[in-house]
Amino acid sequence: MKMNIETDQDLKMTSPGWQGMNWIRKNKRIAIYVRDGHKCIYCGITKAQAKRRGVLITLDHVEPRELGGCNSVHNLVTACLSCNTSKGDKTRDEYVEYVKNTHGKHKGIACRLEKQTSLPVYVKSAAGRVTKISVVKNTERRERV
Ligand SMILES: [Zn+2]
Repeated sequence: MKMNIETDQDLKMTSPGWQGMNWIRKNKRIAIYVRDGHKCIYCGITKAQAKRRGVLITLDHVEPRELGGCNSVHNLVTACLSCNTSKGDKTRDEYVEYVKNTHGKHKGIACRLEKQTSLPVYVKSAAGRVTKISVVKNTERRERV
């Protein structure tokens, strides 16, 4: 299935599971962007480049929600909308295969994913308190630092 997604509005209309930008707290979203260096983990496009090209930067579930993937920081990566859409509901391994077959440029995506998702994420609250989010057996744990 091929979709042409240009805007948030289109995505809203084409994706039944769409929950807007509010399914994740802003702090957590920003912490993930910061962890990933504000770059799409798949193609490497930066936030600034994406903005110039009119591409949205989004969060991708490495293990798709459709397959039980959770909203933990270790299952979320920064991805441009174009890569996020092409990954769709493929698993990490399926996507690596897909990229190898269709674009011929593997570029160590699986390896980058592994590295990124294992990095801790720090979230700063409005009160200035910094919290480290780590995941133990798929359960999110917060510790003050
Ligand atoms: Zn991308």
